[in-house]
Amino acid sequence: MVKAEGVHKSFGQIEVLKGIDLEVAPREVFCLIGPSGSGKSTFLRCINHLEKISAGRLYVDGELVGYRQKGDRLYELKDSEVALKRRDIGMVFQRFNLFPHMTAVENVMEAPVQVKGETRATARARALQLLDQVGLGDKAGNYPSQLSGGQQQRVAIARALAMDPKLMLFDEPTSALDPELVGDVLDVMRQLAEDGMTMVVVTHEMGFAREVGDALVFMDDGVVVESGHPRDVLTNPQHDRTKSFLSKVL
Ligand code: ATP
Ligand code: MG
Repeated sequence: MVKAEGVHKSFGQIEVLKGIDLEVAPREVFCLIGPSGSGKSTFLRCINHLEKISAGRLYVDGELVGYRQKGDRLYELKDSEVALKRRDIGMVFQRFNLFPHMTAVENVMEAPVQVKGETRATARARALQLLDQVGLGDKAGNYPSQLSGGQQQRVAIARALAMDPKLMLFDEPTSALDPELVGDVLDVMRQLAEDGMTMVVVTHEMGFAREVGDALVFMDDGVVVESGHPRDVLTNPQHDRTKSFLSKVL
């Protein structure tokens, strides 16, 4: 579903991704861990067309991200083409980024109505169903300010799902939450995984990675240091950098 071959990303003189190679299989929960500044968010942003890679190849569902290839040459996609591709990818951030002036259900129906041109009635019915799915069937009329952080994050997940993405990206979705609210969000993600969603998850929740993850990558300083099954990497890390990182977070 996602394939990275020698992906580089620089901001000016600073090289943030220094040749990332990895592959995310369909229906897989792919966890990404690593120290602050190692390039995890940048990599997710590249997958989601929010950043253009500087070198290498990045594919989502077999298609190049950001470019079209003709013969040996690459051509940048137009904004309208990028917008079309982004529809298929859902992203959930550390901060929930809900529209504050809209209720939960309005937040969830917004993109299907505005981007896909669904009728409000159709979009609302589906939004209510999604809110139910994330355990918020009774909060549809609440504004974000009337919801806890964990509830807001679950609305954000429902909002991403409303576009029927084939891939979901999570960037530390529980890091901004009070500890007692983390479990509900992880439960929703666990359910999504069971339903077969392909997910790339940047997280510090090692329990989630171990129980739900199918693959785990440890990134440091813009490279993949170590990867494997979460249980193997977490219990038997091979590299000193991985060991040192895990000793701080486990
Ligand atoms: P964290 O765990 O703190 O979220 P991260 O692994 O997600 O860290 P990134 O946010 O990807 O790290 O950042 C990697 C590096 O890239 C950092 O040194 C950051 O300062 C730099 N960086 C990210 N975005 C930009 C930008 N738009 N312009 C310049 N530098 C950037
Ligand atoms: Mg980050």
